[in-house]
Amino acid sequence: MMETENSRLARDRLAKLTDKPIVMTTVQHLAQTEVVKSLENNLGVCKETADCITVALHPDRPETHENTFVHELLHKMLKHEGFPEIRIDEVYADTNIPAPLWPSLGNLRSRFGSVLQHPEVYRRMRQDYNLDMEHYFESLLKQKVSRFSKKRGGNGQELIFCNQQDILDGLEYFYYDPDQRKQVQSCFRDSSESAYNSCLQLHAEIEKTGTHTAHSCLRSGKVIRAHIIKFGEKRNLNVLNNMWKALDIKLGERN
Ligand SMILES: [Zn+2]
Repeated sequence: MMETENSRLARDRLAKLTDKPIVMTTVQHLAQTEVVKSLENNLGVCKETADCITVALHPDRPETHENTFVHELLHKMLKHEGFPEIRIDEVYADTNIPAPLWPSLGNLRSRFGSVLQHPEVYRRMRQDYNLDMEHYFESLLKQKVSRFSKKRGGNGQELIFCNQQDILDGLEYFYYDPDQRKQVQSCFRDSSESAYNSCLQLHAEIEKTGTHTAHSCLRSGKVIRAHIIKFGEKRNLNVLNNMWKALDIKLGERN
């Protein structure tokens, strides 16, 4: 990736919070080493270990690299500022979730954590950097449209679980540029009107609780979790609803 004024600014700001070095790789490489195939379609992924922060970018989307790099580093800055983290309640998971579902639980946990940070991540991308975000949002739009065009198979239970994940994911579409927001939300509405409406209602709720500070994010995270569980309960979702119940939202270490 080419260093730019924006990428340097992001590096400098993160360096004030942690002295771990940043290591660059590709999403494909990270997907292999993490054995999470789905990662390879992401524009970027960030992983923090005890001694470094690894940022993975998609090699075929160079036009998104600058935005994605800043985006991933912002996630890390929020973490080090003490924004909430999603943990897995191991005791609950052990007794209430069958072992084959545990890998999906890990995915759900990291997606929930990202979604919770996105309002503040997008706000800072727009306000604190001088980024040209058009190609970035176009790429995100393509990715999200393909998400809705995939066949939604499975039994009724799996479909409800899928709807719940769409509600969670849908919360971030509100922060896209107006054109892309309109297009992705119309795909969402076409795929499930009830999930779409539920997402609209949830978004209105978290607008009230707020998402731009660690404490407001914590409150909003709890609202999101409760809303999604209720969506499942109303539709008699059984064991898959436990996936959400196994997620715990806690403030990060700085608080
Ligand atoms: Zn993100």
